[in-house]
Amino acid sequence: MSFELIEKHGEHEEILFCYNKDVGLKAIIAIHNTTLGPALGGTRMWEYENEEDALVDVLRLSKGMTYKAAAAGLNLGGGKAVIIGNPKKHKSEALFRAFGAYVNSLKGLYITAEDVGTTVQDMEYVFMETPFVTGIPKAFGGSGDPSPYTAHGVLMGIKAAVKRKLNADSLEGVRVAVQGLGNVGSNLVDYLVAEKAIVTVGDIDKDRVSKLVDKYGLTAVDPNGIVTSECDVFAPCAMGAVINDQTLPNLRCQIVAGGANNQLAEARHGRALKESGVLYAPDYVINAGGLMNVFVELEGYSSERAIDKTTQVYDNMMQVFQIAEDNDVTTEDAANRLAESRIKHLGALRQHHQGRMARPFSTLREMTNRQK
Ligand code: NAD
Repeated sequence: MSFELIEKHGEHEEILFCYNKDVGLKAIIAIHNTTLGPALGGTRMWEYENEEDALVDVLRLSKGMTYKAAAAGLNLGGGKAVIIGNPKKHKSEALFRAFGAYVNSLKGLYITAEDVGTTVQDMEYVFMETPFVTGIPKAFGGSGDPSPYTAHGVLMGIKAAVKRKLNADSLEGVRVAVQGLGNVGSNLVDYLVAEKAIVTVGDIDKDRVSKLVDKYGLTAVDPNGIVTSECDVFAPCAMGAVINDQTLPNLRCQIVAGGANNQLAEARHGRALKESGVLYAPDYVINAGGLMNVFVELEGYSSERAIDKTTQVYDNMMQVFQIAEDNDVTTEDAANRLAESRIKHLGALRQHHQGRMARPFSTLREMTNRQK
């Protein structure tokens, strides 16, 4: 049964089922593809309805990480882990250390990080058992909170989309509606205000709205109405599936470009955006700044280099737009093509000579020297 499921959800290289009765660990690590480098992706802790749901989730998410890293131009592969359990009830030091030992057994083929349901503290326990973990506290050489870097990448993606669609080199006077003022959205607003964009904001959390309205004198929009408010750029930075059958006919923007994951409810909504002339910045390309930040952590972390790295989102996005135009496909399809072509061509190169392609694995040796 499980093998059928695994085959149905992409050509994964390796799946590791982790079980430790004493500490209550039930986890799955999925390594989708390591052509470009070690498989990096966070560990999600979730109370899945059943084990099949957990397996499907980890298969889907690990494949997504392969595409994200490849389109971001990083020498990383795609992987992900899920721990089955309630993050509010079932966490313990022993559980994360037992999980860390499993990560370690993969000898660097998989590198983990935080995700939904796991925290920096949990990763600290994982780090006690393995060096193959990112998102650890700054005191241990980690990169800390990725959100400011994700937000900076999103800013770069918005700039690229504005250049492409409005032929403008600056965001001055460009109307941007930001939905969601959490970690990513609030940092994005700071950047947009500094660029002199005309920013409107919406969040179901009134305190978050009033904080930014008071700080910058911005206009607040009803959280239900911000998706369809009149603007140049709609920047989703809250939940997924925000572009759906209900919102799509009522959009009054020219560009959709924001940090949220899985913005399109279904692939057909991407086609509908294309047909209606709205330029969509594919989510996994525009929100790759956080991944770029942890990649810098693998090389020896510096905040300046991480910010510098995230400026690459501009060029990545421009490439995606060009592929979409040249092939008359959606920008989402174009992003997939960009990722697949990088894996194909660099994978072939790797077979012939190691060169700098060997870098991620040499980096892993450096990681093993990291101080505990
Ligand atoms: P967060 O939880 O800090 O913030 C989300 C905000 O959205 C909250 O303020 C919440 O009140 C608001 N919100 C929820 N539902 C809403 C609605 N219906 N209308 C308006 N506002 C609503 O999360 P975050 O870390 O800022 O992440 C935001 C999005 O970006 C998520 O989709 C996340 O998966 C994605 N993302 C985040 C990162 C990162 O570095 N944090 C990286 C990549 C992708």
